[in-house]
Amino acid sequence: MALNQADKELIEFAANVIRENYDNVNWWHTVGAAVRTGNGKVYAGVNCDSVSHGACAEVIAIGSAVTAGEREFDTIVAVLGGETGKILPPCGNCRQMMYLYDKNMNVIVSEDTKVSIQELLKYPCD
Ligand SMILES: [Zn+2]
Repeated sequence: MALNQADKELIEFAANVIRENYDNVNWWHTVGAAVRTGNGKVYAGVNCDSVSHGACAEVIAIGSAVTAGEREFDTIVAVLGGETGKILPPCGNCRQMMYLYDKNMNVIVSEDTKVSIQELLKYPCD
């Protein structure tokens, strides 16, 4: 699917949140994510690192939305901080989580493409 104006704003939202919180000393926060809910609200998150593996930015963004009472998710995106600003397709664990939280969620995977989570995760653990 092609991106619409709201998708481009979602990318910018994720880029801004990691721009504001980028950690180039300890590298604890290097990715920003933004998720748009079914009612159009946007929630953001940055990844939180730990000794082995922390939480991806998408997990934090969805967790923030869930904490605010949201249960329907329209579109999500993650953006790498630093100079590239590259859009990151989600890791395997995040794909599974997105599928479980909303099987109709869309995922922005590049500057000009979004796909459904069911397309991105063809054989979910369900
Ligand atoms: Zn992930």
